[in-house]
Amino acid sequence: MGDGNGGGILYVVATPIGNLADLSGRAREVLATVDRIAAEDTRQTAVLLRHYGLSTPLVAYHEHNEEAMARRLVEALAGGERIALVTDAGTPLVSDPGYRLVRAARAGGLRVEPVPGPSACITALSAAGLPSDRFLFLGFPPRAHARRRAEFAAVRGEPGTLVWYESGRRIVATLSDLIQVLGGDREGVLARELTKLHETFLYGTLASLHGRLERDPEQCLGEMVLLVAGARAEAADEAEARRVLGLLLPELPLKKAVSLTAEITAARRNRIYELALEMRR
Ligand code: SAM
Repeated sequence: MGDGNGGGILYVVATPIGNLADLSGRAREVLATVDRIAAEDTRQTAVLLRHYGLSTPLVAYHEHNEEAMARRLVEALAGGERIALVTDAGTPLVSDPGYRLVRAARAGGLRVEPVPGPSACITALSAAGLPSDRFLFLGFPPRAHARRRAEFAAVRGEPGTLVWYESGRRIVATLSDLIQVLGGDREGVLARELTKLHETFLYGTLASLHGRLERDPEQCLGEMVLLVAGARAEAADEAEARRVLGLLLPELPLKKAVSLTAEITAARRNRIYELALEMRR
């Protein structure tokens, strides 16, 4: 690995997720002065450039040519070019192309500079009103029903807020699966069309959100981020205590099973004792 000081510079530039005014001053400056812009969809980025009166050359860099294009762009960077990487909206690499290019540039000892700005995940989290001290961003849920449910089951005990991107075509099915796996009482927020004319935040339990979308299909239109309150840390500890007790209780006296579970898990000893009595019964 080099120190990143040779050759050109790869700028990873965040662009607006709706409102074109959200392009940062530095992003505009970088897009105006680089040798070229590697864009996920050149037509889409051309709209942004036109809005800001820029005419920097564009080159297509997307999931279908990522590998070959990353090699070519790294060669150009090594030759001293300054290149900006953008995607259609938001921050590159966040459920978007760019990882291979950034990785290859770093492996080649080239300089990579972030030019931060909007991302739908953080934008939604910042205004949803769900706990934000800890969150887990999961990108798009798997499309296949069984894999989707398996993913939801894997994060059932996660104490932090869960954040997914989802398409309007699948949101109702996704909510149904979430209700099956996490229960209908969990709090959720559907953040739609952020920074755009029809920006909407729908709040409620997962069951009420599901009902709302079924009654009002217009709420399935546009782009959306789904946020779900995490299991409280205590609930997660309790689930783990139940699991451990389930293994130990059949093998050991109750007191011994309780004290071992208290050592293995973060659950409170009194609560473990109550759980053990309940499970014995
Ligand atoms: N890299 C982007 C970012 O940083 O936000 C995300 C790209 S991902 C391919 C596109 C998804 O982001 C959409 O399907 C939607 O779930 C979410 N998204 C993008 N813009 C949005 C907006 N204005 N409002 C709500 N969700 C948005």
